[in-house]
Amino acid sequence: MIYQRSSALFKEAQKVIPGGVNSPVRAFKAVGGDPIFVKEAKGAYLFDEDGNQLIDFIASWGPLILGHAYEPVINAVVAKAKKGTSFGMPTEIETHLAKLAVSMVPNIDKIRFVNSGTEACMSAVRLARGYTGKDKIIKFAGCYHGHSDSFLIQAGSGAVTFGSPNSPGVTQGTAKDTLLANYNDLVGVEELVKANEGEIAAIIIEPVAGNMGCIVPTDEFIQGLRKLCTEKGILLIFDEVMTGFRLGKGGAQEALGMDADILCFGKVIGGGLPVGAFASRAEIMSHLAPEGPVYQAGTLSGNPLAMAAGLAMLTELDNHPEVFESLAKKTEYLHEGFQKVLDKKGIAYQINRFGSMISVHFTDEPVVDFNSSAKGNNETFKKFFHGMLDQGIYLPPSAFESYFLNDALSYEDLDTTIAALDSLDL
Ligand code: PMP
Repeated sequence: MIYQRSSALFKEAQKVIPGGVNSPVRAFKAVGGDPIFVKEAKGAYLFDEDGNQLIDFIASWGPLILGHAYEPVINAVVAKAKKGTSFGMPTEIETHLAKLAVSMVPNIDKIRFVNSGTEACMSAVRLARGYTGKDKIIKFAGCYHGHSDSFLIQAGSGAVTFGSPNSPGVTQGTAKDTLLANYNDLVGVEELVKANEGEIAAIIIEPVAGNMGCIVPTDEFIQGLRKLCTEKGILLIFDEVMTGFRLGKGGAQEALGMDADILCFGKVIGGGLPVGAFASRAEIMSHLAPEGPVYQAGTLSGNPLAMAAGLAMLTELDNHPEVFESLAKKTEYLHEGFQKVLDKKGIAYQINRFGSMISVHFTDEPVVDFNSSAKGNNETFKKFFHGMLDQGIYLPPSAFESYFLNDALSYEDLDTTIAALDSLDL
C-alpha cells in the first residue's frame, strides 16, 4: 500500500504539533514508519488520505463498539448540534444518560460526567482520598489510568511504549503517595498494605488490563483484592474505561461477579465523543461538590453533543445486549485463527483474551503482569504489525495495547485478517 500523502501530512503536522500527534501512541514510534492519516471511516473500515481501505481493530481505542459512523449515534449528534453546542447550564439529557448508565451497571447510584478517562480516574482518586481522609493509593505496574500526575508511575500504554513510565514533571511529593504493586500478585499487595497500615485511600486497577496488552486477573487475585479492601477500609476503584460497556452491560463487575466501590468510565460511554464518568454508591458520591466538599468541575462536562452520542450508544447496547456475545464470539474466532497460523509457523507466542479484548505477545512465557508482557519480542512485533498493515489490517501500533473489536467486523474480515497473518514471514 502507498502512504505518500499520510507521510506528507505527518511532516506538516510535526512543524506545529509536538511529534506531529496529539496523543503519543499515534506516532508509530514503537513500530517505526509514519502514521496513517485517516480521512473517514464507516463500519469496520478506515479510509485513509491515500485512498487505502483498512480493516480497523482499534475502533478509536475502544469507543466505537458498533463500528464507525454508526447511524443512530451520528443522527443523535447532528440533531443535537443544530440546537446549540454548549451551554454551561444543566440539560435534561444528562439525567437521561445518567439514569440509563445507573440502570445498566450494578452497584452504583450516582454518576458524574467528565470529558475523558483521565479526568474520570483523577477525580475518582480525589474522591476516594476526600472520603477516607487518607493520602496513598496503590496502582499496578503496567496499568494506565490516564495521564494525570499520580498515575504516571510505572504506567502502561503509551507511557511505557515511549520509555517514560515515570514521567519527568511528576513531583516526588506526588510520586510518594502512589504505591506500586504487580498485577496478579496478591501477596505483594498484602505486604504493601501492611507496610502502610491506615494510610491507603484506594487501590485502583484495570479489572481486565488492556494497557500492557490484555491481561486477565486470576480469580484468587481479584477476589482477594476485594476482601482485603473491605477488611482494611480501602476503596477498590475499578478503572472500567476499557471494560465498561464492552465486557457486558455491567462491565467487569458483572463479568467477574464482584463489586467495586468506585467505577471509572470512558470510551464506549461517549460513543466516540469526549466523555468520561465516575460513579459509586450515593453515600460516597455525596462527598462531591456541590453536595459535599470534594471539588470537581468542567466547563464542557455533560456537553449536549457528547451526551447525545453516549445516550444513543448506550441505548443501542441496552436494547441489544446480544452484541456483547457476538463480539466475544468474533474475538474467539480471531483468537483460534491466529493460534492455528502461529502454531504452524512454530513461533513463540501467547494470546491473551477476555471477551472482546485480545492481544498477541511474541514470548514463550505466560503473560500475567507487566514484567512478562515486557519480555515480548519487539522485533517480531514490528514485522507482524507492518506485515499486517501492508495488507490493509490496522492493528494497535504497540504490543502494550489491547485490540478492540467492533461489531461491524464480519467473519469475512476476520478470515482476511487471519489469511494476512498466514502470509507473513515472521
Ligand atoms: N484508563 C484506562 C484503562 C485507559 O485505557 C485509558 C485510555 N486508554 C484511560 C484511563 C485514559 O482515558 P483518556 O485517554 O480518555 O484520558
